[in-house]
Amino acid sequence: MTLQVYQQALSAMKSRGGPYSGMDVPEFYAMIEYLFTPEEAEVNNALERKPASAKEIAVKMNRDEHEIRGRLEAMADKGLCATFDADGVRLYQGLPFMPGIMEYQFFSGGKTERHKKAARLIHEYKKAYEAARGIEKISFPLTRVIPVNKSIPAANVIHTYDQVAAYIEKYDTICVGACYCRHEAQLRGEDIHGMPMEVCMWFGNLAEYMIERLGGRKVTKQEAGEILNQTEKAGLVHMSRNTTEDISFVCNCDRWHCEVISQVLKQPAPGRVFNSGYEPMFDPELCTACETCIERCPPEALKMGENNIPSVNPDRCFGCAVCARGCPEEAIKMSPKPDFPTPPKNVKELTMQIKHHGMKK
Ligand code: SF4
Ligand code: SF4
Repeated sequence: MTLQVYQQALSAMKSRGGPYSGMDVPEFYAMIEYLFTPEEAEVNNALERKPASAKEIAVKMNRDEHEIRGRLEAMADKGLCATFDADGVRLYQGLPFMPGIMEYQFFSGGKTERHKKAARLIHEYKKAYEAARGIEKISFPLTRVIPVNKSIPAANVIHTYDQVAAYIEKYDTICVGACYCRHEAQLRGEDIHGMPMEVCMWFGNLAEYMIERLGGRKVTKQEAGEILNQTEKAGLVHMSRNTTEDISFVCNCDRWHCEVISQVLKQPAPGRVFNSGYEPMFDPELCTACETCIERCPPEALKMGENNIPSVNPDRCFGCAVCARGCPEEAIKMSPKPDFPTPPKNVKELTMQIKHHGMKK
């Protein structure tokens, strides 16, 4: 039964899609056998993306409802499935590897031997997957850069969805947890260049879930603002889902470890598939050619140009404003790009756009 249940897990994970969805390589089985006991893998295989009650899942598996409910609750606490209440009924849902199971293993910032081994096995699986698949073309961005809005002159119209501070204002519950990418790297012994760790930010119902189930830490609006400041000083890029609504999280990403940025940087024109809709403008009167902006720029989009004023490569620039935030002379202002398309409204529209652009390939 044990071997069969993990083989079936391959099709279950593939059917959920997303990056690293499932691949028939030894590294996949090494990882999944470590994350799931055979009993948990069996329940995972019965779960679908469509939420179902413990009773429905138990009927599907021809098992006792009480036993299956207990297993599902324990799995939700380990970040191996999702759960929520709807109309007074507790529902459970299968998670993809990413975004989902992989990140959830590290949100609490745990550093036990189990965390370390999970980090190593997940990393080895991702490397094997990438080696077999090669570079995947991004046809429509799933995620979006959010600029540092302090660097946008007041005269410009700034959309609410372009302001992380607006999310902090909007939600009563905010939680922070460990950055999955940096924490996983640190657990494997990599240098994280002194970057802040507890900066992954969640809002609203999902924040409550992360606090209750996955070791997230509740923070006040003031503390969230301070964490945001800390990330901007460190030169991190704010990133969220590429929608104008349904913004439930903000990641604060660095160029060395972030999964998304490392995939984006493999594209022929990274700035065309991962962007905020803003671009840096340099004031020649204020610039002293100190090159701080060039050093800070995560995608290396800047070089010194004519008259000792930095020039920007639009194919690489994310519009993140990390350059502007670090300029000692305040010589850089972010300006909205003309004709930059409004992001899809919600997850449904985003999924349709991704499918549509994928078909045009
Ligand atoms: S950081 Fe500011 S002052 Fe220094 S080179 Fe860049 S724009 Fe000029
Ligand atoms: S030049 Fe670099 S740091 Fe500045 S907005 Fe573009 S990507 Fe960000």
